[in-house]
Amino acid sequence: MDNSSDWLARTRAAVWHPCTQMKQLETLPPLPVARGEGAWLIDADGRRYLDAISSWWVNLFGHANPRINAAIVDQLGRIEHVMLAGCTHAPVVELSERLAALTGLGHAFYASDGASATEIALKMSFHYWRNVGRPGKTGFVSVKHGYHGETLGALSVTDVALFKDVYAPLLRHSHQVTSPDWRLAAPGESAEAYALRAAAELEAYLAAHADTTAALIVEPLVQGAAGMAMHHPAWLARARAACDRHGVHLIADEIAVGFGRAGTFLAHEQAGIRPDFLCLSKGITGGYLPLSCVLTRDEIHAAFYDDHSARGFLHSHSYTGNPLACRAALAVLDIFRSDDVLAGNRARAARFNALLADVARHPRVAHFRNTGMIWAFDVIGAGPGFSRDFHRAALARGVFLRPIGASVYFMPPYVVGDAELTLLAETTLDLLDGLPD
Ligand SMILES: *Cc1c(COP(=O)(O)O)cnc(C)c1O
Repeated sequence: MDNSSDWLARTRAAVWHPCTQMKQLETLPPLPVARGEGAWLIDADGRRYLDAISSWWVNLFGHANPRINAAIVDQLGRIEHVMLAGCTHAPVVELSERLAALTGLGHAFYASDGASATEIALKMSFHYWRNVGRPGKTGFVSVKHGYHGETLGALSVTDVALFKDVYAPLLRHSHQVTSPDWRLAAPGESAEAYALRAAAELEAYLAAHADTTAALIVEPLVQGAAGMAMHHPAWLARARAACDRHGVHLIADEIAVGFGRAGTFLAHEQAGIRPDFLCLSKGITGGYLPLSCVLTRDEIHAAFYDDHSARGFLHSHSYTGNPLACRAALAVLDIFRSDDVLAGNRARAARFNALLADVARHPRVAHFRNTGMIWAFDVIGAGPGFSRDFHRAALARGVFLRPIGASVYFMPPYVVGDAELTLLAETTLDLLDGLPD
């Protein structure tokens, strides 16, 4: 990409951008990215922007990471892709074995994006109950303001009005329970006390509807699209216990919070529990290639293992288990193993929290929050155009941010250094100081 304005005209003419009212591109053009380098995006004119939200939460170890690049290049010379029905290959076998060892969930089913992982988990849960003679368990429970993707099945358990309301006539009903988001706690109530209060509602719902409920689907610890709403792990522990008591599956959607994002390798570890289904995507390839995965317990897999084809899980996608994506994922796991990434992130998070002290106590900031490598706060008095204006003002200062409504969040790649974190904190403070009343 050599000339910005040329690319902007061509993208508007030929590309239909995601999650975008295309008319807004008239006043807020997309960034024409030509290259990436570590935590930085570099545009067609050579300007640099700090990728403070990891390219929609997918990037872990920076753009153009030499180790992930090398793994993909090596795989490219062997086999780029082969169908996974009737064939298998080393990258998918090794990745499945390593994910099983890390999660205690013995079988891995692959797709290419997060929404497909949600679809797979919902279908598998329903089909499991049918295979064990409980065909009436067809319902799903999710959490208010939860997000699980935007294909029709995933949207049915998503609860974000902006994405869902238009398509309501196409969707299947599901039940939403109160969110354990600690911002909803009563004055003086701790995050934990509020989480337990919210869990009581879930317990009552499952007690009454277990016969018709297949699964509860949750985003452990952080509801990303809700604006990085965070909750105490006690809620998840209680949800697991209630699902066990009432014979309902627990689906952990760790598409955004897995791979160290919430501080532990997987977020649900902090509640001391194990889900029945675990959905992974986004960071799984370090932000390189589309790959998602649903891991499940061997007992669930066994309920599909039969002489009859129709008792099997006949779902598929053309690129299921793509070898290049699996090699990228294996390189990511290698980096976690060799670099002690989680410990490095703990130190990084402590430094960033110290740098953000003035942001946290700024008079326009409410509910400053942090879980692992995710930070967020709500801006008091944010008007309707806030998100776009803040994005634009940050961009002018070389920082790429995309607030969700009135919530500003940071989700930097795990390779950000102190200079970059300082730039991010100082830019944010200046932007807050410059907000209109
Ligand atoms: C992003 C996301 C999804 C959907 O993943 P896509 O790859 O965008 O389809 C599902 N669940 C959660 C929690 C997510 O953050």
